[in-house]
Amino acid sequence: MRENIDLEAIQSPEDTPVDLSLRPRRLNEFIGQEKLKENLSVFLRAAMQRGEPLDHLLLYGPPGLGKTTLAHIVATEMGATIHVTSGPAIERPGDLVGILTNLEPGSVLFIDEIHRLARPVEEILYPAMEDSKVDIMIGKGPAARSIRLELPRFTVIGATTRQGLLTGPLRDRFGIVMNFSYYDRVALYEIIRRSAKILGYHTAKDGAEEIARRSRGTPRIANRLLRRVRDFAQVDGLDEIHKPIADKALEMLEIDHLGLDSVDRSLLTAMITKYAGGPVGLDTLAATTGEDSGTIEDVYEPYLLQTGMIQRTPRGRVATPGAYAHLGLKQPERKPSQEDLFG
Ligand code: ADP
Repeated sequence: MRENIDLEAIQSPEDTPVDLSLRPRRLNEFIGQEKLKENLSVFLRAAMQRGEPLDHLLLYGPPGLGKTTLAHIVATEMGATIHVTSGPAIERPGDLVGILTNLEPGSVLFIDEIHRLARPVEEILYPAMEDSKVDIMIGKGPAARSIRLELPRFTVIGATTRQGLLTGPLRDRFGIVMNFSYYDRVALYEIIRRSAKILGYHTAKDGAEEIARRSRGTPRIANRLLRRVRDFAQVDGLDEIHKPIADKALEMLEIDHLGLDSVDRSLLTAMITKYAGGPVGLDTLAATTGEDSGTIEDVYEPYLLQTGMIQRTPRGRVATPGAYAHLGLKQPERKPSQEDLFG
């Protein structure tokens, strides 16, 4: 049975109790994203000195990079309570009014997948974020009237995978916007060593390095791979995770040296064998491979771009020479066009 580890790893919306135990609680335990942390600690300190809640904060970046973790850290650092919800979970405006009117002063409202808020719900959020006010309708028909309720001051922390999915008016209401980038190998290595220590696993330096190399720059994947490699180590009677067992386990899981999994490779292969390397549109690629186009755009494409396997052009995605080399395929000689020949 093949375990589709990456999809499970990146997309599962709920973290398991083990994941929760691995979650850093304070800003100084949060590894990597140095620039972001530096800025955030200034904003936190300034807000605390003024005795005010932090300005509304928008976090964006691919799944599994620590947006939820950071939202919890902000609440902890501010000594605030946090209320966690998500765009799709708030179905009606009344649901949001209920949440807002129950917030304690200074608390944090974390809205994951904030780009998926329904429009009428979003419209309730605007005055709440801007003026700490919410308008509610009482009664129906001609007798209906609107009353305005004052809310305590609070902080909205929104998380989204792509900033471009947010409507302009919503984006404008965030005073602080922070972009998560993929983690480098050093940061991932530290995350893996930290997680292994918490879980009581022994990792050799080369074992942790190998897992870090194949974690697609994503802490959530690093933690999941660590646990899967540990399963292989345990079954083989090893009490330490070293490079040979990491190699063996990751090969079994079909995760290659760049951290690409079978879906990444099938996307690249389709681009190359079916569309001569591109350009190919996202929907065409989704239809050809049977993958969801949103998942390709949120999860696969950013990492393929990051590793230089594909490029985005106005006419679609193009496989690079690096992709041909990675898959061991020969890149066809491009016939010189009329333009190349005659300018
Ligand atoms: P997102 O909300 O961006 O999808 P999460 O905040 O749920 O990501 O992070 C996924 C997991 O990765 C968390 O359970 C946490 O253990 C781990 N993690 C994320 N960022 C870091 C970090 N900077 N340092 C250590 N662990 C991290």
